[in-house]
Amino acid sequence: MPKSTIPIGIDLGTTFSVVAYLDSTGRPCTITNAEGDLITPSVVLLDGASSVVGKEAVKAAGMEPEKIADFAKRDMGSMFYSKKVGGEQLPPEVIQSLILEKLRKDAELKLGPIDRAVVTVPAFFNEPRRKATQDAAQLAGLQILDIINEPTAAAIAFGYQVGFLDEKGQARQKETILVYDLGGGTFDVTVMVIDGTDFTALATGGDVFLGGVDWDRRLAEHIGNKFRDKHHGFDPRQDASGNQRLLKEAEDTKRALSAREQVTVSFEHVGQGIRLPITRVEFEEMTADLLERTRFTIKSVLKEAKLQWTDITRLLLVGGSSRMPMVQRMLEEESGLKVDRSLSPDEAVAHGAALYAGLLIAREEVQPDDAPAKKPAMTVKNVSSHDLGVLSKDPATGRSMNSIIIPRNTVLPVTKGKRFRTAKQGQKTVVINVIEGGDSAGRNSTPIGRCTIHGLPPDLAPGMIVEVFFTYSENGRLKVEGRLPELKRKAMLSIERASGMNDDKLNEWGEKLKASRQ
Ligand code: AMP
Repeated sequence: MPKSTIPIGIDLGTTFSVVAYLDSTGRPCTITNAEGDLITPSVVLLDGASSVVGKEAVKAAGMEPEKIADFAKRDMGSMFYSKKVGGEQLPPEVIQSLILEKLRKDAELKLGPIDRAVVTVPAFFNEPRRKATQDAAQLAGLQILDIINEPTAAAIAFGYQVGFLDEKGQARQKETILVYDLGGGTFDVTVMVIDGTDFTALATGGDVFLGGVDWDRRLAEHIGNKFRDKHHGFDPRQDASGNQRLLKEAEDTKRALSAREQVTVSFEHVGQGIRLPITRVEFEEMTADLLERTRFTIKSVLKEAKLQWTDITRLLLVGGSSRMPMVQRMLEEESGLKVDRSLSPDEAVAHGAALYAGLLIAREEVQPDDAPAKKPAMTVKNVSSHDLGVLSKDPATGRSMNSIIIPRNTVLPVTKGKRFRTAKQGQKTVVINVIEGGDSAGRNSTPIGRCTIHGLPPDLAPGMIVEVFFTYSENGRLKVEGRLPELKRKAMLSIERASGMNDDKLNEWGEKLKASRQ
């Protein structure tokens, strides 16, 4: 099969996913799915060996909730998806790969065979979640050109929209933008400088457990409580199907409240019903703490970037949940700026991913030796989103200690080394526990895995130096290497990951999924 020359950009969202490509003029365009829609619900119905993804799965959710997998993005980086689906406990990568496969196949209807893609991830995704995303793409039969942070993609889409450069080829006014990205399941804030075609992230922060679905749940709780009170304890939430329909009703109500001041909810369950007027003010009161969490994150990101609101020239809103009027109001109150809603909140991230894919392909293209050196079409610099540390025991107190090797918000790529010494005579291995995030004792951190240095010379005297180098590449993925400086050679190093799929599991699932496609 000839290799497709058109790569795609995929915004793999918690609730919705979007695919874009660059047309022959280099303009990003959203690809409609097989149902004719621009966005595809990130919902999978699993029925034995077969699966249905998107709108049809959503329709079935109320009837067969036990076969439905949704919000799987939130579980990326965990061993298993949060509940059994169709009686089976599945890795979240497998669910995400089924969504990616549907997106790929639908895009192929328009573009022909596709095998290369850029997939976006929240800037705040930690390393295991990034790896899991890449693994899901591999399972879906995609060669991943790269993963890119969602706010960076949005900034690229914005830069493209306003025209990176003016007619004279000069950078348009340098902008320091704050990207506020509130999606269906995740929240990200990134401060970036756009200078012509150079995109540089200064600081990033977020919450992978905060998104539109949390607003839905609050509203569902409210409607559910009123229903239960009216019907003497009869509660639709006790039944999986009732709960699923209640959540859907809550989401519809939330969307309606973005356009109207008051909405009357009608909800029926097993012959009983309720009609309940809800005002926007009430809705905003019951979700005020969620909005407050986003305000808190913005403040800390600005602090990390060492900036004040007066340094910010533009507030860019992305993510479907940024349509809620309370978001806009809070941001304008907080910043004194008018928010910029010029981007399509649903499509911007996929468009930025497609533009980035175009850049990567252009970089790959071989230039003849005598061709004048071309300036890259754009440069993109990101920062790390979590502290990278090594967990050890304080010899004096015996307590756990987190030694930070690469602090968060370090410009990527970065390599930092740390020296360790063998402790015992004849020691054969050195084991290092690598973590991301957490406090000074390593509490609330994400274990990345255990690195074992082996192949040390026999009868080694204690105190031998083992140097370990930690590299975050531009996309936030981690590589670890070891050296034995006294022996002037590389150390043998293996990593046992604390979560996600190892190569064997990945191959096993790859074969399984391939067989089910035939
Ligand atoms: P995204 O992941 O960016 O596609 O965002 C999806 C989220 O945006 C879901 O939680 C939707 O309920 C939410 N959303 C979409 N449109 C609106 C709207 N008009 N008002 C409030 N929330 C919305």
